[in-house]
Amino acid sequence: MEFLDTTTVRFVFAVVAVTLLGLFYFVTFQRTRSIYSAWWCVALALFLTGSAAYLLDGTAHQVWANPTGNALLVLGVASVWASARTLRARPAPVWQLLAGPAVTLLVSALDSPATNDWSGGPVFLAFMCLLLALASVELWGIKRSSSRVTKSLALAAGLLAAYYLGRWLVFLAEGPDGPTFTTYFDSAITTLITLVLLVVVSFSMAALSNEQVTHDLHLRATRDGLTGLLNRSGFADLALNELNRIRANGTPGALVLADLDHFKAVNDTHGHAAGDGVLQAFADICVATVRSTDLVGRHGGEEFVILLPGADSNRAEAIVNQLSARFARATFAEGFEPPTVSYGIAAINSESTDLAAVLATADAALYEAKSLGRNRAVQGPTGRK
Ligand code: GH3
Ligand code: MG
Ligand code: MG
Repeated sequence: MEFLDTTTVRFVFAVVAVTLLGLFYFVTFQRTRSIYSAWWCVALALFLTGSAAYLLDGTAHQVWANPTGNALLVLGVASVWASARTLRARPAPVWQLLAGPAVTLLVSALDSPATNDWSGGPVFLAFMCLLLALASVELWGIKRSSSRVTKSLALAAGLLAAYYLGRWLVFLAEGPDGPTFTTYFDSAITTLITLVLLVVVSFSMAALSNEQVTHDLHLRATRDGLTGLLNRSGFADLALNELNRIRANGTPGALVLADLDHFKAVNDTHGHAAGDGVLQAFADICVATVRSTDLVGRHGGEEFVILLPGADSNRAEAIVNQLSARFARATFAEGFEPPTVSYGIAAINSESTDLAAVLATADAALYEAKSLGRNRAVQGPTGRK
């Protein structure tokens, strides 16, 4: 396009790319330190330096600057692909990242780069298209809740890949001076399109990073660090939903409080770390024993809380017996026997609206189990009927 002066557009591109790189590095990467945002910083830096190298076209430096610019841009797109791969936890081997840029550099250097400012053009365009397409496929395959962001990233990469396919084919057909190439696919218009996509992708990447940070914070706020179980408030949130569902469906349910017996003695005799190991072992056994739809939480210290939707009191008692039997078989490096466990069970029915009341019933039953000599389960008042 004649009204667009390539040098001016490249200069604008450089300014915008520096701004994006600065913003993305300090605002997003520094905060999240995620691998994919690191790769995106690398990609932005490469697009920037690659385009800057082209500014030397027409000078005595063109002989090295043009092949270098080609190789840096291909490496930039390879970094986009690498970024997409880390999102799917499939990091790309280094040779695969470097193959495209290396071949581009070699071919461009052998294609009279001093006089030909499209040295290595067909190879450069082919690798740009290929790597963008690979990145697009990789992004499209990501399955997670934030799929809308990754789908739009896939679309951006896919559109640019399609554009580069057009560039490549038209370049092969009529060369860089042909009418179609100069009208639709020349350097100025490509730089402009890339510019818009860089902005779009940077914002999407930032959105993705924010989603991840929010997700991690939520996980940390609702989970117990030692056992990985729900913490008290995380359990309460989900348990309230379950109580509502039980009320709506008219199905039974049970809530269990489990308390390890004489646990303080484990700490006192074998040390706090051994105590931690016992808590983790019991937590793992709870998770392995109940259904995936049941809720298991750490109520505090050595107390655990389990919500069993659909289970009546007898079923709840069978489950806690299973828990105790499994836990009794647990072995520890220090060679001691696992402690026994006492349980308080509260039945849940369509009248149980208040989680605190259900917990209080289970707690009273647990207290009774302790006073009756521990290592047993006691049903709360409604469960006894
Ligand atoms: P009881 O049979 O009556 O339940 O006796 P107990 O010793 O189990 O109960 P007590 O409440 O006297 O002691 C609980 C102990 O649990 C005291 C506390 O130091 C320990 N504890 C609480 N949280 C943790 C933890 O995260 N790690 C370890 N190792 N110990 C913990
Ligand atoms: Mg205890
Ligand atoms: Mg206790």
